[in-house]
Amino acid sequence: MKTNGAPHWTPADSAELYGIRNWGAGYFDLAEDGAVTVNVQFPEGRVGVSIPQIIEGMRSRGMQMPVLLRIENILDAQITVLNESFTRAISTLGYRGSFRGVFPIKVNQQCQVIEEIARFGSSYGHGLEAGSKAELLIALATLQPGSGHIVCNGYKDEEFVSLGLQALRLGYRVTFVIETPTELPIILEASKRLGIAPILGLRVKLASKVSGAWSESSGDRSIFGLTTSQIVQTLDLLRSHNMLDCLQLLHYHLGSQIPNIRDIRSGVLEACRYYVDLVREGAALGYLDLGGGLAVDYDGSQTNYEYSKNYSLDEYCTDIVETIMTTLDPEGIEHPVIVTESGRATVAYSSVLLFNILDVTSFEGGDPPAVDSSEHELLRNLADVLSGIGSKNLQECFNDAVFYRDEIRELFKRGQIRLRSLSLSERLFIEIVRVIARETASSRRAPPGLDGLEDSLADIYYGNFSVFQSLPDVWAIEQVFPVMPVHRHNEKPVRQAIIADITCDSDGKIDRFIDPRGLRKTLPVHPLRENEPYYLGVFLVGAYQETLGDLHNLMGDTNVVSIRINADGSFDFIREMDGDSIADVLSYVEYQPQQLLEQFRRTAEGAVRAGRISPQERQAMLASFDASLRGYTYFEE
Ligand SMILES: *Cc1c(COP(=O)(O)O)cnc(C)c1O
Repeated sequence: MKTNGAPHWTPADSAELYGIRNWGAGYFDLAEDGAVTVNVQFPEGRVGVSIPQIIEGMRSRGMQMPVLLRIENILDAQITVLNESFTRAISTLGYRGSFRGVFPIKVNQQCQVIEEIARFGSSYGHGLEAGSKAELLIALATLQPGSGHIVCNGYKDEEFVSLGLQALRLGYRVTFVIETPTELPIILEASKRLGIAPILGLRVKLASKVSGAWSESSGDRSIFGLTTSQIVQTLDLLRSHNMLDCLQLLHYHLGSQIPNIRDIRSGVLEACRYYVDLVREGAALGYLDLGGGLAVDYDGSQTNYEYSKNYSLDEYCTDIVETIMTTLDPEGIEHPVIVTESGRATVAYSSVLLFNILDVTSFEGGDPPAVDSSEHELLRNLADVLSGIGSKNLQECFNDAVFYRDEIRELFKRGQIRLRSLSLSERLFIEIVRVIARETASSRRAPPGLDGLEDSLADIYYGNFSVFQSLPDVWAIEQVFPVMPVHRHNEKPVRQAIIADITCDSDGKIDRFIDPRGLRKTLPVHPLRENEPYYLGVFLVGAYQETLGDLHNLMGDTNVVSIRINADGSFDFIREMDGDSIADVLSYVEYQPQQLLEQFRRTAEGAVRAGRISPQERQAMLASFDASLRGYTYFEE
């Protein structure tokens, strides 16, 4: 630890403060020069690339913030660890089945992401899960026949079913998971008509309930899955068509982000009981599909907190394999192929949202000026409170300060003091709160009600992004993601801030941050420097955030950059995609940009005729309007 003298801050101090080595999973770390790095393992060794350097590369190519940075190596690495962890558990425990992962397209449907999963995943036979017709089209167009499996969940109409059946002829393995009793007759009819036997799965509604943010998807009241009586009906119907051999897969999904390994185990155990009895009923089962739920440790705490998880990937795999074996072995039933539909854990790590800070509001003005005797008595009282603060009267001083401040506000409303006096009183009040906050922070016996005072004085850092577009779960379900500056980590971050976005919605903010001891309301940041950009990163945003986002205030899709890191430490910009232009977002809400330009042109022309502007001024205005239409929806430099 530091001893006397000037405090010296190192990247190691920052690593501890922001917990990057806990949530970073080895993919993110800090370098000696204070930069956040992206790390990738190669056979030759580990390579780290500095995020500020990646940003420099984007800037020199004219790419504006905010940018969603995708790191392809990380996506590949996550597919690898998922497959290899299962393979390891299977061989260690002597399991006699294999593992087949499928990626649920809904978790990140972006073409580039799905193509990379299909390309890289093919060596493991990694497939795709489709929950809708559109997603089935993506799966068929992206996977090769004979490679990864396609598992179809969700409601399936006759068109969906016909297409899926015909794809079997091409050599795709398409499984229809029956989610409702009405689906089976549609499938049977199409199958007879086309003369193609379907591959079927059953989705069961497990009684096991899970804790966590998505607990609603589990238990008796879950909206998905067949009840036991619907399962019996389905079995009877299949038997009557002599088609029990088509029923090959048993599926359940307990919900996303399951933080507690106990819930995962009890889900598998219950599903195995169904598996045993379906086999006894004559179903030709061979696949047990556990759905998603594999969690991401967003705060790095390794606990059963809803945005963490209390298990490693190896434990997850071992527990699943072990539970299946101990349940099926006494029944003499063959080990099934284990299928999981891990979405979140596969893609979360591979995307980082990067944005610059545009402005800061601080609630302090340094030492407030002296209050002279001509000021109102209440202001002089407030000044006395400030000078009289001691460790024993904190609560009393705070109460007095609130009282005087409120009285002064009343006087202003009644026109009895001027704006300058009001402003002076606010500065005095903030200074009082600051001194009290400092005292309470250093005293072990802080009066109740005074803790949290410092949070109320936090700076507001305005970030060039939209929570609604890029981090919808922060707004919708109060999810926490790791957030931190991506540079300057050899400097102590002496300010505390909340992050506001540039929508004009008061919900457009981040004011819950990860902390090893629970959540915190403010983020430690560095003071801005003149003429020097300051960048923050929001990490682990690859799952669900991209397409759940909306066009609040017509902030559109951000620019996206994909990089691939090379073994020699260099990196390539694989793909750059421009975010929405203003014309794009206007057309999403049914405006016609050309028509808007035309309407504006007519207004300007009218002004020329009336002699209010010159033709040259008209020209310049139209050029600005036109350039704006083609521009980015975010703050441009
Ligand atoms: C959403 C979903 C998943 C993905 O779950 P994750 O927790 O993201 O892995 C898997 N299967 C089904 C049926 C889903 O609806």
